[in-house]
Amino acid sequence: MYEAPDRYKRMISARLPGGESLGLTSREGDGESSPLRDVQLISRAQLAPFFAAANIVAALMMVTILSGEVAAQWLLPWAGAVGVVNLIAMQIARTQAVTHVGRSGHQVPQWRMIGDVTLRAILWISLPLYMFPWLTPGTQVIAASIMAGLGIGALGLVVVPPCVTAWMSAFTGGICAALLIGRHSIPFPHMISILFTLGVAIFGVLAVARWAFHQLKTNADFGSQSESASLLLQEYEQRGVGWLWQVDAENRVSYISSRMTALLGRPAAALVGHSMPSLLGGSAELGRLLLERQPFNSLEMELKTARGQRWISIAGDPIIDTAGRFEGFRGVGSDITEIRQTQERLTHLANVDVLSGLPNRGRVRQLLGEALRGATVGNVPCAILFLDLDGFKPVNDTFGHPKGDAVLRAVAKRLVDEVGGDGHVGRMGGDEFAIVVIDAQSRRNVEGMADRIIKAVAEPYMIDQTEIRIGVSIGCAFGPIDGATVDDLILKADLALYEAKGAGRGIARYFSSELQSEQEDRVRLENDLRAAIKSDQFHLNFQPLVNAKDQKLVGFEALIRWNHPQRGMVPPNVFIPVAEEAGLMPVIGEWVIEEAIRAVATWPEPITVALNISPKQIILPALPNVVSEALARHKVPGNRIELEVTEGVFLGDNGTTLDVLKRLRALGVGIALDDFGTGYSSIGYLNKAVFHKLKIDGSFVREAGTRPENVAIIQSIVQLAKSFRMSVTAEGVETAEDFERMRDLGCDTIQGYLFGRPLSYERANQMVVGLRAKRMAG
Ligand code: C2E
Ligand code: MG
Ligand code: MG
Repeated sequence: MYEAPDRYKRMISARLPGGESLGLTSREGDGESSPLRDVQLISRAQLAPFFAAANIVAALMMVTILSGEVAAQWLLPWAGAVGVVNLIAMQIARTQAVTHVGRSGHQVPQWRMIGDVTLRAILWISLPLYMFPWLTPGTQVIAASIMAGLGIGALGLVVVPPCVTAWMSAFTGGICAALLIGRHSIPFPHMISILFTLGVAIFGVLAVARWAFHQLKTNADFGSQSESASLLLQEYEQRGVGWLWQVDAENRVSYISSRMTALLGRPAAALVGHSMPSLLGGSAELGRLLLERQPFNSLEMELKTARGQRWISIAGDPIIDTAGRFEGFRGVGSDITEIRQTQERLTHLANVDVLSGLPNRGRVRQLLGEALRGATVGNVPCAILFLDLDGFKPVNDTFGHPKGDAVLRAVAKRLVDEVGGDGHVGRMGGDEFAIVVIDAQSRRNVEGMADRIIKAVAEPYMIDQTEIRIGVSIGCAFGPIDGATVDDLILKADLALYEAKGAGRGIARYFSSELQSEQEDRVRLENDLRAAIKSDQFHLNFQPLVNAKDQKLVGFEALIRWNHPQRGMVPPNVFIPVAEEAGLMPVIGEWVIEEAIRAVATWPEPITVALNISPKQIILPALPNVVSEALARHKVPGNRIELEVTEGVFLGDNGTTLDVLKRLRALGVGIALDDFGTGYSSIGYLNKAVFHKLKIDGSFVREAGTRPENVAIIQSIVQLAKSFRMSVTAEGVETAEDFERMRDLGCDTIQGYLFGRPLSYERANQMVVGLRAKRMAG
């Protein structure tokens, strides 16, 4: 391999200050391989003394041979000139190696080198050739041989092949001319041997020159590669991108960059010779990797350093010598603390709900996954609680989103306080939260937590002097008992939550297999309902309503009936909630309106028909239009019908309900508050000024026989209704006692099995006809 002498190496590195890779690049831009030029110049300088010496020695030999036949006044100046020219040429070659190597744009032009060589060749052969005719044949042979010998001296120029060619051409020409001159005097065998020597020399020298040039070029290319590699490494270390390290076969540090010693806060002397794994905090992983003697990449570890806790990443490759022996490891390392911090920040952002600061949906799923794996391995069940706030939407609608957000944050805080270290609280989005309980071994603890949460969330919130009240429903599932995968478990908890919502809110429900089959039943029922709408499986029954004073028929309540081909009669209490959930109520409700009005149109005044309106219908702004169109179609005045609504319509009220009710009222339609006395504290709804009638729930009526307090309550309800100018209907009157009690309490109309069950249209019609006949008779 080519090795530039130290002196020239120093020159090269002086021209290329550390880190300044620009020098390298611009030299490459010269068109020809510049490192090769540099190597040529250096080799030329190295060979110059030998070449000059060959010239001078050959000249002295020539002087000695010719001294008997040629006058000294010719010989000495010639020999002197050859000596001086060659010494000067040698000096120039050496100087150029110093001044031109490694400098872009400062090349020694090739024609100068060729010119130098040609001139020296011509100078050398000039005298012997000029004197040749006068020499004796013996001297001629010797002179031609010396010339041939010096021609082979072209070997001293092998590094620059054009110079070799120039030198050999000059000498070959000179010798050929000499032999031509001496063709009569030089014996033929001598001539042949000189020409043969010359021919062999020409091929030999040219071949050597070509080979030497090729070697030089390869070495120069390799040299420039390793030079740029070492420059890059230098740059890598200096720019602070990373650092380099090397250990011996015993894992003892043999080299470590100053950057790393600075990071560790110890001088290189305190690190070199010490075990690398123990220097890096006793990293067992690193120890293992070094022991395996396999290349490794991106090994990340946390270090206590002079600058505090830092993260580094290192990579290494085993060093194997040419004999295949393991000599240690060498590699790179870098400080990745900032990268990791950024990564951590991003991960945090991706996992956190911005509003509440709690884990978001994705993170909750992850946490549940971890809890589920732990539960499966450790045989201790985990649990997921799904929470949905009750009555949050009206808060947002009434008080605005900023207050809504403040409530959500307050809820988040209460949840975290309640759950403490027993689980992870997360926000799934909107008004939905979730809690992952890792240890749910005790079902009672989980139930206790759910109850505490329901109470805590129901406490009023003071947001900017506004008191806000909401509630929460909870659905819970245990893993892996209720579901073995995250999705499955979430589905089950969701089902339980749905159940909790349906069962009246503010409660917790736990998944069970019955719940699952209920759910499946519900789905089947929903499908059957859709089919029922299309295939006309509904009809209306009419339950009579009588005047409390004279027990005369005053009207009917239309009650829907569903006769399913396989299921038989499905009670409205069963299918109406399903229809409401499935969004089928508007269609079914419209059908009821149409049928009820069609029926009342066939009956004389003052017979009225009451029909039930679901809370899901009352929020439809189109409802008054639907009603008025049906009335117009059947030419029925508005006061012939009555719409029954329950207090449920005011839950989650956003103003539309009241507006719809008022528009209906404007059509002359009566509005009755149905099922009064069940569920909610109802009196507040009465002053809404839209109701003309109040219907006391049947269960309340029938209980009045055994519970005197019911009597008192009914009494005050009747008085209250009267003060609002409402009439009162008692529902579910089954016995004569019920009837008398209600009549005496002041109820205006009575409805119940005592006066008639819900009847088909035909039966109801017969009653009307009978009534008319009686009237006519009367
Ligand atoms: P509701 O509006 O309170 O209807 C009165 C319910 O009490 C009817 O049950 C009726 O059959 C029953 N009932 C009447 N008198 C007595 C009695 O003396 N004793 C007993 N034990 N029960 C009596 P039904 O028809 O099963 O309807 C139940 C509920 O379904 C209705 O309660 C109403 O809320 C709803 N519903 C019925 N039809 C419709 C409808 O077309 N649309 C809507 N949205 N809901 C309806
Ligand atoms: Mg009703
Ligand atoms: Mg009722």
